[in-house]
Amino acid sequence: MTPEQRARDFDTADPLAHFRDRFTLPEGVIYLDGNSLGALPTATPDALRRVVEQEWGEGLIRSWNGPDFGGAGWFEAAGRIGAKIAPLIGAEPDEVIACDSTSVNLFKLISAALAMRPGRTVILSEPGNFPTDLYMIAGLEQQGLAQRRLAPREELAQALDGDVALLLLTHVHYKTGAMHDMATLIRAAHEAGALVLWDLSHSTGAVPVDLNSAGADFAVGCGYKYLCGGPGAPAFAFVAARHHPQLVQPLTGWFGHAAPFAFSDDYAPAPGIERLLCGTSPVLGLAALEVGVELIAAIGVDRLYGKSQALSEFFLACLADLGVTLELVSPADSSARGSQLSFQHPQAYAISQALIARGVIGDFRDPDVLRLGFAPAYLRFADIAAAARHLAEVLASGEWQRAEFNQRAAVT
Ligand SMILES: *Cc1c(COP(=O)(O)O)cnc(C)c1O
Repeated sequence: MTPEQRARDFDTADPLAHFRDRFTLPEGVIYLDGNSLGALPTATPDALRRVVEQEWGEGLIRSWNGPDFGGAGWFEAAGRIGAKIAPLIGAEPDEVIACDSTSVNLFKLISAALAMRPGRTVILSEPGNFPTDLYMIAGLEQQGLAQRRLAPREELAQALDGDVALLLLTHVHYKTGAMHDMATLIRAAHEAGALVLWDLSHSTGAVPVDLNSAGADFAVGCGYKYLCGGPGAPAFAFVAARHHPQLVQPLTGWFGHAAPFAFSDDYAPAPGIERLLCGTSPVLGLAALEVGVELIAAIGVDRLYGKSQALSEFFLACLADLGVTLELVSPADSSARGSQLSFQHPQAYAISQALIARGVIGDFRDPDVLRLGFAPAYLRFADIAAAARHLAEVLASGEWQRAEFNQRAAVT
């Protein structure tokens, strides 16, 4: 059987196949970049139109209050959406809040961890972690509040000494897709007296995460990747309930106050996860995020993960059938990686551009990685077979050598 014939059988048997109709994707595009910007849920434009025209246009400031007061519930949206993200990451509803960007949430939680471990100043991470994670530590270091220590993943356990306040890791590596063993690392860090902060940007909505079973302290993650919240969607933050009373974060804005509308001169943090808020919630961004989160949560992370593994295994099988040999830098075992496959090739940038010209949208990560994401909510096995064939043709024809595929754009 050809890859295309096998794909037809898989698509027929796929229990998630009908969810593709809940997304709007352009004709002729095979979208393998849902790990970077999730696709548009079909319900999002109407939801935004309702928020803009009715809640804002008609309700005006009355919309901040909840339905009990004739409003639209803007004030509660951050916590309400956090509660909907919670089951995707093994958290309780009151442990998650949707707010700010992942970068800003990192700053708040790194700072909070430092405050909870007086006398310890080291933030331990790994080289090659997502840049913003490393930069946020560096910013605190520049202010004299932290010291950055990097150790390769095999050496993290040894690097956990009595100076480490916090271990900060990205659960699924953005470039390779390699997945950390969360529970084991948390145990090692806790034994060393350190806290742990997980960046779940490439995990949430793609792979199962069970923060509370693993004994997690803190986590952050992205709203615009697998959660399909739209470009620049608000991110989320998780704090284990046992830490809520001690949690002191540095961005003490009025939205994190216990009673913002008391307009007191003195700051008093909200009792629960709301103390992570800083300023006024971005209502339009939250409205789009809520649609994506509801859709992904309705499919459920176990089913998404099962399909994600099947899609990436099928892509590798198609490449083998088509005689393509590329250097896989993702773990070969699908249970050790997230929902992506990354390949190393000296011409990875030009290959990714040649694929985009054929309608196969993946991406490139410096210096030589072709990264293909398999967002399981809306991809078909037919897309996978077609993408593999396009990749085989791009490599066999050498069309990536054309000049227009070798000019670097600002965003890759
Ligand atoms: C995408 C991503 C981010 C994004 O951070 P922003 O503040 O939203 O720009 C952070 N961390 C990781 C690991 C990511 O993959």
